[in-house]
Amino acid sequence: MIPVTKTFLPPKADFDSFLDRAWQERWVTNRGQLTKELEDKLTELLGVDNVLCTTNGTLPLQLALKLIGKKGEIITTPFSYVATLSSIVWENCIPVFVDIHPEYLTIDETKIESAITPQTTCILATHVYGNPCNVEAISKLACKHNLKVIYDAAHAFGVEVDNQSIFKHGDIATCSFHATKIFHTGEGGALFANDPELVAPLFHFHNFGHNGPHNFHSVGINAKMSELQAALGLAVLPYFREIKEKRKLICQLYLIELAGSNCQFLKIRENTNWNFSYFPIIFETEEQLLKVEKSLNNQQIFPRRYFYPSLNTLSYIETKIKMPISESISKRILCLPIYHDLSHESISKISSIIKDQLIINSK
Ligand SMILES: *Cc1c(COP(=O)(O)O)cnc(C)c1O
Repeated sequence: MIPVTKTFLPPKADFDSFLDRAWQERWVTNRGQLTKELEDKLTELLGVDNVLCTTNGTLPLQLALKLIGKKGEIITTPFSYVATLSSIVWENCIPVFVDIHPEYLTIDETKIESAITPQTTCILATHVYGNPCNVEAISKLACKHNLKVIYDAAHAFGVEVDNQSIFKHGDIATCSFHATKIFHTGEGGALFANDPELVAPLFHFHNFGHNGPHNFHSVGINAKMSELQAALGLAVLPYFREIKEKRKLICQLYLIELAGSNCQFLKIRENTNWNFSYFPIIFETEEQLLKVEKSLNNQQIFPRRYFYPSLNTLSYIETKIKMPISESISKRILCLPIYHDLSHESISKISSIIKDQLIINSK
């Protein structure tokens, strides 16, 4: 069986050696030494000013929206995982969709300005598949209209723009360390506050608003990472570079094997060091995709339809507005299996099944 992804697990002994420290201290949550050590290592590795580890990658979106979304209109992308949208709705903000660029698949920054109203508070955009949004253009727009910017960078661990961590962009960036993501802690995530004024309120939000045992700065919730999650992260982190290199090779092999197949591949934005986190291919029609998916499934190969359906079409979105590019892409895009130990043989097999189907189709 070949799944769309396989969680990288470090040697068990690596994990145990971190767990031993939690056992010795009898300290399994509430920002013990392991969580702080993971934050220090991430700060160093990524070259960011501050990072706050959280229990998953969705709560940081909610904390960010609660703080700077202020129940206003949030300009967002219809092409992302549902957590981007559900966080907006959950925080009583109003999603205002802006369609995506047909090749980069990130929010189309040229269409943002016409979506801004006096109620707009924020832009929440996703670096989809780790491909950066046009951060420069978005930052200029935000300045001009006095808006805040949140980036859902759940897919973007290790991505750099102009040789700087992508997490440095936006007033707040968030990441997910879920087991299906390129760097993981089982469940987990992080918040990167780039506006220094937001660091303290976000920290308070993530820990019930505590100001010492009996006082409270503000309302808050529990979004803390546990020591057990941090232990897994500390054990996985040393392998990150190697995981990324292996995925790079897999992407290169897919591109070679699928050359001439008439499929569209993800166009990575200029000046980006990408992380090879996903390998999406875009077919000419949904019918082609369904045929390919079926023949892969018949061989016990399970790609995933990330991201389908387009978020503007979800039942709980009351104002239905068409997003033609996102709706079209989401019907035709399929993420192929990619994980650190996917074999060359498997890549060849997957590619030849795809090519066979496309040839049959075109006859
Ligand atoms: C995975 C993901 C999230 C949510 O992360 P969790 O850690 O699973 O809560 C949010 N946004 C995007 C785009 C994601 O892919």
